[in-house]
Amino acid sequence: MKTVDPVSQELLRSAADRGLDLNWERYQKLQPQDGFLRVGLSCPYGCLQGPCRIDPFGRGPDHGLCGLDRDGMVAALLLRLSLIGALEALNTIPAPDTISEVSLPAPLDEMATQALKNLEGDSLSVGEIYRTTSLLQRPQETPEQMVLQALRLGIITLGLLEQRQTSLDAQGSLLCKAGYGLLAGDKITIGICGHPPRELIEALLKESSRKSSVRVQLVSLGDWIRLNDGFLPYACTSGEAELSLISGKINLVLLGSGADPTISDLCQRLDVPLVESQEVQETGEILRLARQAYSIPSETSFDPDPSLVHKARVIMTAQDLESLLRKEKFHARLALLGGADTPQHSFGWIPVELTSALRAEGYLVAGWGDAALWMIKNGFASEGQDHAARILDEYQGPLLALKALAVSGRLESLQGICFTGLKACRDLAVALGLAGLGLKVCVAVPLPLWGSERVRNFLADKLAAGGGLLTHYDHPANAEEILEWFLNHR
Ligand code: SF4
Repeated sequence: MKTVDPVSQELLRSAADRGLDLNWERYQKLQPQDGFLRVGLSCPYGCLQGPCRIDPFGRGPDHGLCGLDRDGMVAALLLRLSLIGALEALNTIPAPDTISEVSLPAPLDEMATQALKNLEGDSLSVGEIYRTTSLLQRPQETPEQMVLQALRLGIITLGLLEQRQTSLDAQGSLLCKAGYGLLAGDKITIGICGHPPRELIEALLKESSRKSSVRVQLVSLGDWIRLNDGFLPYACTSGEAELSLISGKINLVLLGSGADPTISDLCQRLDVPLVESQEVQETGEILRLARQAYSIPSETSFDPDPSLVHKARVIMTAQDLESLLRKEKFHARLALLGGADTPQHSFGWIPVELTSALRAEGYLVAGWGDAALWMIKNGFASEGQDHAARILDEYQGPLLALKALAVSGRLESLQGICFTGLKACRDLAVALGLAGLGLKVCVAVPLPLWGSERVRNFLADKLAAGGGLLTHYDHPANAEEILEWFLNHR
């Protein structure tokens, strides 16, 4: 199955009937994806004598042109991905040029100090990110030094995400709605993809709230779009964005930075008007185009059940989570699940199965990213439920839970952190940073480390010396494997 959502399955059938290829078909056509890169044996250095690739089975090339071996190649790739992750985190900060030192906040500073002792260095700085780029010009460091640097960049990434939070208005919790039910009935719907400027969305919301014969609504197609008093409602998760266009219920797409190129292609094929946020002159023009598209009868008869919408609160501060945990008289076990949809798994399978199974085992579950949207869509995070799943801010995710537990001296309650899917390199850097801090982390999709046993062993030993663990698999892990991982590590 491509997705666990029955509504998505209906939309998939509609796409197939109309001969439209979506992300799953592209994924299948791409198989096998570059096997060298997948195991870390495609050289990541900024060197024009390549590309050099090493045969994982030992039958072809065993060194790059410069003599680089498989261990150096795998370690360099890990470092390069961590570097991109740290840079992504730096770019989320409103004024990145103004910061130099990076640190973790008070309840976690002791953990960070211990971790840095294990990682052979003390303070962390933004300059370290830039210095890492010089390590990736030509081979010059041992694989071990590069793995250490990748772990340090992971902790720097956590520090930068913390910095981002303190530079924004912290709010306790914000309302969020998600589900295909938002597309029910007659209304003009503008879908938002990527991250258009917040002022533009607010101006559109204001303009669309004016009285008109047909209601106008704005929905997110999977990106976390924060407003002053909440989040834009989510019609779907990020993996389902193409399906929401197939529904015929999106009358216009407003595209911001970070949206996948497929969205503009699909809009063109489906005749859905698309506006790029950097080209917007007037919000009135966007509404005019959306109204015009709405007046043309849709080719599909899709009309979901309006009850397919669930609400949840997104926790934005550690204080808020801490007070919620206290009110719940929470003593026991917390499991964190987060990450993006990936076609390596049936969409929603890992977060839905694991949330149900872990709750049945008495765990409190908290999530972020697409995994959190699946929790909301399935009603696991709705208020009034016993031990409702908790939804965490997309950027802080596990860091927020760590701070809340550390403040109340209950860090041992955290039973593990699972990344259900990875998309941006920032996710990988965060996973490394958390394991580097001494936490138990599991990644449900394969990491490009299988080309070097030496790198895998060094990484595992280094993390174990600091009390941490990074479990990863040579295949997309199934829900039972991850459940077992949680149960075996309590
Ligand atoms: S650094 Fe070495 S292995 Fe990498 S592309 Fe250049 S020559 Fe090839």
